[in-house]
Amino acid sequence: MAGTGILVVVETSAGVPRPTALELFGAARAIGDALGPVTALVVGRSVAAAADQVARLGADRVLVADAEEFAEPVAARMARAVAAAWETAQPTLVFLPGTTLGRDVAAVVAAQRGVPHLVDVVMLELTDEEIVAIRPVYQSKLLTTVRASRARPAVVTVRAGSFRPPEPAEPAARVEPLTVTLSDADRRVRVTRTVEKPRGQVDLESAPVVVVGGRGIGEPEGFAQLAELAELLGGALGCTRAVSDLGWRPHYEQIGQTGKQVRPKLYLGVGVSGAVQHTVGMQGSETIVVINRDPNAPLVKMADFALVADWTEIVPRLIARLRERRGRAG
Ligand SMILES: Cc1cc2nc3c(=O)[nH]c(=O)nc-3n(C[C@H](O)[C@H](O)[C@H](O)COP(=O)(O)OP(=O)(O)OC[C@H]3O[C@@H](n4cnc5c(N)ncnc54)[C@H](O)[C@@H]3O)c2cc1C
Repeated sequence: MAGTGILVVVETSAGVPRPTALELFGAARAIGDALGPVTALVVGRSVAAAADQVARLGADRVLVADAEEFAEPVAARMARAVAAAWETAQPTLVFLPGTTLGRDVAAVVAAQRGVPHLVDVVMLELTDEEIVAIRPVYQSKLLTTVRASRARPAVVTVRAGSFRPPEPAEPAARVEPLTVTLSDADRRVRVTRTVEKPRGQVDLESAPVVVVGGRGIGEPEGFAQLAELAELLGGALGCTRAVSDLGWRPHYEQIGQTGKQVRPKLYLGVGVSGAVQHTVGMQGSETIVVINRDPNAPLVKMADFALVADWTEIVPRLIARLRERRGRAG
């Protein structure tokens, strides 16, 4: 197999690694040490702290492309950085996050090198001859196995929530600047506007606790209670598509096939039926708790713990109890 080791590309936003990018180190670990060293590439502007964070996630070496030009999420520029890191590390596998930018960049670098691109991967293993990847197809109704020969390198984009980022550990890897030369053409595409989600909220994709409200909440006002519950549990608020389609909650809170993938320690679904398009986005959660008045709802059957009850009977009591505990702790 050409090259040695894995190159993990860490996309950043406002200097902070995308949570999905940190999960790539979990994917690298899943393959084991057989492939050789793990090199991380951190791309962005003012990413020194991000590089220090990444240096503790199991990389042997961290390359940093830190420049004003990388503040904007432009695929051609990031692809230049990946190409420079590729020259330096000569990897066997290149991992990118399955974000919009990561997928764009992966396609560019795979085409430039003429190597395979394994897309939307949720599991990965190596045989003597092949890289074997599993990816969901047909709106996640089926899983399919794709194979690429180990005779040459491959680019892999990993679906968010498929691997856990490793716990930070010492010693930290060495951090080195990477020189990237951009062309005029790379600078031609400009990002004129970005839409930020409100600040101060816990990030849904990396939250340890996710409280999700479904259509069973009955009205948009009910979500204020779920937001408070999420806040008391140190988690984030999510919703189903039925809820975002009704305009009760913003689309960026939607979890599932056409929304976000989450993998919290605790998923609490309230008034959520558990349609497959929803469960594909949360089935990796460590513990699943459900409040639903229908004992036959699919999510009740899937849950570790289910309270078959009207949510309005349970949630206010949960909130009161948690407030009480917080009061005692404070
Ligand atoms: C192509 C496609 C993509 C899709 N993508 C997504 C996606 O990404 N994410 C997603 O979530 N959905 C998605 N859907 C929609 C999905 O099929 C379901 O329609 C949706 O998930 C249902 O949302 P829900 O559970 O909130 O509502 P419902 O299915 O209406 O369930 C409401 C639940 O609340 C319970 N309930 C009602 N009142 C109470 C009460 N007072 N107390 C307690 N429980 C109560 C009911 O028993 C019921 O189980 C997609 C559909 C399609 C066709």
